Amino acid sequence: MQRICVLGATGSIGQSTLDVVARHPDKFKVIAITAHSNLDLLVELAVKCQPEYVVISNPDLYQQTKTRLSRAKIDVELLSGPEGLVEVAKLAEVDSVMAAIVGAAGLLPTLSAVQAGKKVMLANKEALVMCGELFINEVQKSGAKLLPIDSEHNAIFQSLPDSFVYGDLASSGISKILLTGSGGPFLNTPLSTFDAITPDQACAHPNWDMGRKISVDSATMMNKGLEFIEAKWLFGLNSDDINIVLHPQSIIHSMVQYSDGSVIAQMGNPDMRTPIAHCLAYPNRIESGVKALDFADIVNFSFTVPDFVRYPNLEIAIQACEAGQYATTALNAANEIAVEAFLSGIIRFSDIAKINRNVVEHTQPEVLTELQQILSVDEQARALATQYLQRDCA
Ligand code: NAD
Ligand code: MG
Repeated sequence: MQRICVLGATGSIGQSTLDVVARHPDKFKVIAITAHSNLDLLVELAVKCQPEYVVISNPDLYQQTKTRLSRAKIDVELLSGPEGLVEVAKLAEVDSVMAAIVGAAGLLPTLSAVQAGKKVMLANKEALVMCGELFINEVQKSGAKLLPIDSEHNAIFQSLPDSFVYGDLASSGISKILLTGSGGPFLNTPLSTFDAITPDQACAHPNWDMGRKISVDSATMMNKGLEFIEAKWLFGLNSDDINIVLHPQSIIHSMVQYSDGSVIAQMGNPDMRTPIAHCLAYPNRIESGVKALDFADIVNFSFTVPDFVRYPNLEIAIQACEAGQYATTALNAANEIAVEAFLSGIIRFSDIAKINRNVVEHTQPEVLTELQQILSVDEQARALATQYLQRDCA
């Protein structure tokens, strides 16, 4: 029986995880779930999964959550705040942790699971973007098992040979990692209309049903940029090991190209329950609830290259990846502020890239080795981004 903690249980990935888990009551037991604000859903999930621990990460909602849980006759240990998240991620009675909190808020609990040597199923890509080197060092020190949930990275992981050694493509005869992306909802939208894009249009992804932050990131292709950085750290790559391929149908989820001309791809319907089931059961396979891919249904199967005029955020992210950790930490922070401002109707869609570029350019290059330094660059970048919102995006 695998005992699981789901960080961000009320989110899109969290709910897909609980869906897969519920299909296999003989294999998985939910020990802890966490949520930030959606109390209705939190209580509903607690009734369904009967966890031993519940965390409400917004501490202001502690009393209200307590009352709601006791009214629903749920007998659990209730924790709150960021400390509560860190606590449940390292519980002795937890074997594996689904890291599915969105954004920088997921970093400390995910690191806590890593340091406790858990099996860590990583959806929270921002954690690696913020502090990839430190994160991977901690994985190596603690012996934690890190498995990628992000569909592209999960596809790459599935397409690599078992003998793959971190950072060593040549010994496995690998020539390139082909990171695929759909191009999002605005692949063919005239550039002249980008200023008028609304949050709801940006969140209407053609293939994937996701949380609002990652949906906007997919529309700007910052998501692919974050994934470029995520791939670097997960597999130990250099920038020129990775090619980005646009594949609007999201059937291929990424590929590995070998020096003999072979390309190994992982395919499937775009449903996150596939990579989630893969990581939950790894190295075995379990049923996920995802519809089998039917090739008779596939009308178009096409590929193209991304264009940095349409997707300036992708270029900014690749340049940040090459500049180093200070730049990717700053970029992640700036992007969180910019996306939130766009979703709140404060700035235009095309302002997101302006803020991101400005913040990275105005962040002092430095070598970051300590968590404290990373958190301080994150904080400074948020302050800069907030200043630029007011100054440049009126
Ligand atoms: P979501 O917005 O649907 O859910 C986010 C979860 O994080 C919720 O449970 C929420 O309660 C929690 N949360 C939000 N703010 C918090 C805070 N300040 N402190 C603690 N918890 C907080 O997001 P999602 O789409 O499920 O994405 C989650 C993560 O997985 C993101 O990092 C995203 O990039 C990554 N991811 C998502 C998908 C997808 O298909 N949804 C695919 C690949 C990777
Ligand atoms: Mg992805």
